[in-house]
Amino acid sequence: MELVKTIQEVRVAVKAWKKQGLTVGFVPTMGYLHEGHRSLMDAAAAQNDKVVVSIFVNPMQFGPTEDLEQYPRDLEQDRNLCEAAGAALIFHPEPEEMYGKNFCSFVDMTGLTEGLCGKSRPVHFRGVCTVVTKLLHIVQPDRAYFGQKDAQQLAVVRRMVEDLNMDVTIVGCPIIREADGLAKSSRNTYLSSEERQAALVLSRALKAGKEKLEQGVREAEPILAVIRETIRQEPMAKIDYVELVDAETLQPIDRVERDALAALAVFIGKTRLIDNFIFTI
Ligand code: AMP
Repeated sequence: MELVKTIQEVRVAVKAWKKQGLTVGFVPTMGYLHEGHRSLMDAAAAQNDKVVVSIFVNPMQFGPTEDLEQYPRDLEQDRNLCEAAGAALIFHPEPEEMYGKNFCSFVDMTGLTEGLCGKSRPVHFRGVCTVVTKLLHIVQPDRAYFGQKDAQQLAVVRRMVEDLNMDVTIVGCPIIREADGLAKSSRNTYLSSEERQAALVLSRALKAGKEKLEQGVREAEPILAVIRETIRQEPMAKIDYVELVDAETLQPIDRVERDALAALAVFIGKTRLIDNFIFTI
């Protein structure tokens, strides 16, 4: 496995593989890798000859008051995880490699990016769309892998690839959780042991909402109410949003008649955590 820091080196490696007729699966990440990332790499390895992983904490997708500086990093551990997963190449650029000093081109999306996380993170999806576009142009993979954990990101990337005719298949992968239900996240490392316990309220609240749906409830209000009420019982938790939206358009719904996404963002202390589930009709 190779670790490279320049766009040129990625292009050389991928070109050589393509010349041999090999397929390429791509897993974009911000590093501090865990089993959630590993599941994406496993899916990529199962469906492609070569797997490329990018590790890049993208400054453009962080707001001015967000955790860009504190975001956890551990390249040595990441390298070991990628190696064990059978990745062929890690792309780990510096911000200057990705954004030259005259950089001024952006990929922006309306609609899908305005609700959910977009409301409290107004610059986030412009940063995501721009960096994912750049990475897809650099790596030129056959398939790219994204986690359902970031449900809005997955929907946005799918839409962008379709709208802009990008020649890549986007593969969505299920949420990987800790044994007690907490969705794995690099940001879980911010939590104290008390907060870690309190964070279980996210998956517990979603489970309560899902039970309502499974009992046949289709009105959004009672489903949202049980989720919100469960979270309010945890004193360390503060709701950013709890929403029930159409799984494809991400627009809020009053009744579940098509596939629906129940998504939430909750602060546990200073740490903002997200979780969700999709209810399929
Ligand atoms: P990140 O490094 O947090 O930007 O995540 C990189 C990719 O890994 C994204 O597509 C995430 O959705 C995915 N991912 C992160 N956590 C999980 C998880 N617990 N289960 C599945 N995929 C995940």
